[in-house]
Amino acid sequence: MAGKEPLPAEPSRAAAGAILTIDLGAVRFNYRLLARMLGGARCGAVVKADGYGLGAAPIAQALIHEGCDTFFVAHLSEGLALRAALGPDIVIYVLNGLPPGTERTFVDAGLRPVLNSAEQIRAWDDLGRPSLRPQPAAIQVDTGMARLGLPPEDVVRFTEDARILAGIQLTLVMSHLACADVPDHPANAQQLKRFQGLRPWFAGPDFSLANSSGIFLGTDWHFDLARPGAALYGINPTPHLPNPMQPVVRLEARVIQTRSVKAGAGIGYGHALVAEAPVRLATIALGYADGWPRRLNGAAFFKGTALPFVGRVSMDSIILDVSALPEGAIAPGDLVELIGPHRTVDEVAADAGTIGYEILTGLGNRFHRVYTGGDA
Ligand SMILES: *Cc1c(COP(=O)(O)O)cnc(C)c1O
Repeated sequence: MAGKEPLPAEPSRAAAGAILTIDLGAVRFNYRLLARMLGGARCGAVVKADGYGLGAAPIAQALIHEGCDTFFVAHLSEGLALRAALGPDIVIYVLNGLPPGTERTFVDAGLRPVLNSAEQIRAWDDLGRPSLRPQPAAIQVDTGMARLGLPPEDVVRFTEDARILAGIQLTLVMSHLACADVPDHPANAQQLKRFQGLRPWFAGPDFSLANSSGIFLGTDWHFDLARPGAALYGINPTPHLPNPMQPVVRLEARVIQTRSVKAGAGIGYGHALVAEAPVRLATIALGYADGWPRRLNGAAFFKGTALPFVGRVSMDSIILDVSALPEGAIAPGDLVELIGPHRTVDEVAADAGTIGYEILTGLGNRFHRVYTGGDA
């Protein structure tokens, strides 16, 4: 029978080329820090893209211990998986909206769509009205990002038309900030003003504007509910200032072979590097198929010593220059650090010309994963 292939089993620690350690205690610390900053506003959590690549279910379960009861995913499929993991009582919003024909699936799974267009509002209204059981949903307002949601004027028009929203239990009015990580960007105040302008039109629903960086813009941006993602995972929400968050991720790769080469040896694909002098090398079992950017010209760390990458990053391996270590100090089976105390996610991202979000969500699925600090 051609059935659905089971997911490949996660490699054991001994078999894995790399080990990804996710500190759920740090995720919980970060949540508490944000919740304290929010004062009276509640703190939700964004766990889209499988919790920024770190595991939506274990992260949500850890945050439920901290009192978090509202989660955001991007896709319906992510919502269904999270619902199965968390049980019925937790609120889950689906940010990317309501694809036509999926209304029943949302209701049956108790998922709340973020309605992003007039069509989606009408579809949800049509569903709730005949049964006289309006279903909960959010409406997203585009206050100035031009990505998702309705313009404020259109939202106001809906509130004036009692015939339309009667079939919807509107639980949340939300908008998203385009420039929250640049505190003095004028868009922040503009979007705030437009969002505040909607308040008088709604009596019941919560309002939500701030992502991680938005929380740091100040209490005006907090409203009733915040939607942090990145900061929970240790990414700096204030790139212009030291990172207030605790690091969450540690990525270690295993040495699978060591060698010494003479001057003149070509190293790796394309002989992109030719040794100018004798050099000692170690090959580690992690490459661009694991989400490590091919263009990144970085270093790994072994007991605090930086071991620069040499030559090109391969699909499944990277070659390190280990000449800085005493001979024999590193051997097959040893683990080197790629993300951790010596190299933060943000630093790795900067080296690769990208942002921490892309590094985390790109991390592959060949790692042995270890979760620590979840239920303490
Ligand atoms: C991804 C996302 C968030 C979380 O943003 P962070 O910068 O990771 O905190 C919040 N709201 C919406 C609509 C999003 O798409």
